[in-house]
Amino acid sequence: MGRPNLFGLSKDELAALVAEKGEPAFRARQVYGWLYRRRVRDVEAMRNLPKTLRAALAEGFDVRWPEVAERELSFDGTRKYLFRLDGPAGGEHARGGGATVEAVYIPEDDRRTICISTQAGCPLKCAFCLTGIAGYKRNLKPGEILGQVATVMEEHPVAETHPHRHEEDPLPWNVVMMGMGEPLLNYEATVAALRILMDDEGFGVPPRKLTLSTVGVLPALEKLARERLRPNLAISLHAPDPGLRRALMPIEAKYPFDEVVAAALRYPIPRGGRVTFEYVLLGGVNDTPAHARALARRLAGQRVKVNVIPLNPAPEIPFEAPSPEAVDAFGAALAAAGVTVSVRRPRGRDILAACGQLHLKKGAPPPAPAHP
Ligand code: SAH
Repeated sequence: MGRPNLFGLSKDELAALVAEKGEPAFRARQVYGWLYRRRVRDVEAMRNLPKTLRAALAEGFDVRWPEVAERELSFDGTRKYLFRLDGPAGGEHARGGGATVEAVYIPEDDRRTICISTQAGCPLKCAFCLTGIAGYKRNLKPGEILGQVATVMEEHPVAETHPHRHEEDPLPWNVVMMGMGEPLLNYEATVAALRILMDDEGFGVPPRKLTLSTVGVLPALEKLARERLRPNLAISLHAPDPGLRRALMPIEAKYPFDEVVAAALRYPIPRGGRVTFEYVLLGGVNDTPAHARALARRLAGQRVKVNVIPLNPAPEIPFEAPSPEAVDAFGAALAAAGVTVSVRRPRGRDILAACGQLHLKKGAPPPAPAHP
């Protein structure tokens, strides 16, 4: 710890760094490829760099991914990672120091999904989400967002998990920003990480395989819509109208229902996709066919998809899961009204890896002493 981290720097930042060392510009692209395409963590392994540049980089910098503090494996193959983040210079107990975040690896038959965090904790305090309960610590840096992806990818080579697959036919990766935090409240770092994830010279994840989930931070959402490369968009709606939404999501007071829906419908989705609205079903609160029909009226005639998510309950969450009958009836009512709908199966529930169950309690550092 202590030395600046190369991992997380953009192409431009690397170009400036390489220029400062008196090396030609193409060296920056080589470093970039080693960091994000080959994903080596040792400058000495960057074989095509001249010895002098390697020595200068090794002396001044580290290549650091966030440290894995814990791994937990679910009966269904889902794996949860707890990462411990670096503290800022000034010691482990300075603000945000030693914060932890979680990421989840979700294997399926035809693809693998990595769910990553963009903030340690979350300031939004949605009534049904555990992440908000522990409070907000800090924004992640680009390297801390990318390091979650790099770690999970490195630990799950295709040959090992699916021996029948071969090189030309790898299991595609999906990356979803649906872990802890609100990505659009950490715009610069999130977009910096997205650029490197989507870049063919970087991680090479196609934009349609990347999804950013947000409550709809309007100014940031408009900005994202104007970026050259954009991920898929999932909007956390959770209610068919502003009144009920406000009771569940305090952010509704700032970014209201109608404007959020309108901005989502304007967002230019990668080719062939459609914008997704996420709707957490809370037993007896927002889960009747009448709610479904009201939602369908709002979305009628639009190319959208509604992802219905039965609540993943926890003792600290003051809501009940919906009954299986309510889930079926809600989905059926949406479909009958002509809305494309999918119901999300919970994954990794036994290890608290399901949506809304990621929180800070486990592995959190002890509170800072007032005076040593
Ligand atoms: N802040 C972003 C991304 C993180 S949450 C957002 O809100 O979209 C990812 C999804 O999980 C959101 O749709 C969120 O509402 C949902 N979620 C939160 N708590 C949940 C819970 N207990 N059960 C099921 N889904 C939950």
